[in-house]
Amino acid sequence: MLGREHVSISVATVIPFIVPLIFSGNVDYQLYYITLLIAVTVGSLTPDADCGGKPKLYYDFKLVYDIMVPLQKAVIFAFKNLSLKYELNLEHEVNSRHRGIMHAPIGIFISSLILTLIAAIIGFAIYQAINAAIILFIFLGLLFGQFLHLLEDSCTVAGINWKFPFGTKLVNGKIHTFPKIKGKKDIRPMVYQQTLWLITILLVLGFSFDIIDFSQWSLYPLIVVSVTAAWVFIILASRTDYGFWYQDAGKIRKARKSAKRSF
Ligand SMILES: [Zn+2]
Repeated sequence: MLGREHVSISVATVIPFIVPLIFSGNVDYQLYYITLLIAVTVGSLTPDADCGGKPKLYYDFKLVYDIMVPLQKAVIFAFKNLSLKYELNLEHEVNSRHRGIMHAPIGIFISSLILTLIAAIIGFAIYQAINAAIILFIFLGLLFGQFLHLLEDSCTVAGINWKFPFGTKLVNGKIHTFPKIKGKKDIRPMVYQQTLWLITILLVLGFSFDIIDFSQWSLYPLIVVSVTAAWVFIILASRTDYGFWYQDAGKIRKARKSAKRSF
């Protein structure tokens, strides 16, 4: 999946949880959800540091990219020198699948931890103080953003090996990041974004017209159920191969342009 699709789908997954906090009117929450949102955005791009070429992370968050590249090599080195139960062939997998250790649960956990630690050190150097809650939000945001990246890549043909490097459990879908048929575009990443944004739109309307309020006990369980349902749809749809998913790329470009103009 493309970098901007990762950002958009991941952010759209997290925003519904933030909308009630925005409407609560409590400014104390602001710092926390802005931190969380930034961390999720960075996290949604971080795993692609192990892909060849220059990913979106390189252009948008060069500092994170510069940390990730040597970190990834260090992790591979560390694993190579540990006598693990399963024979590891990290370098080979990295090269042949274009997805390495950072596209695995263990990789995202290690990198979230290291990046949070670096953020904490930088924060301490600037403010001479540590805000434990902020540090926690940075860690959770990075981890969740990266976890969503793995889920999103699990919808593509290349897929994700969730057990890497300890075994093989390849989970994949039928989405081609780069079009399989010339001139046709897989509209699924677009549909996924819209499905998730719909939850945010409904929440904003609900709050605006006083249909929902912040103290309602069922609010967060409802958001969890809606976002989970959207993700079940995302995963299931990625397994299908209907002709409907592949639309004329030129037409989509034209529709996008006219939508922009009408704004
Ligand atoms: Zn990826």
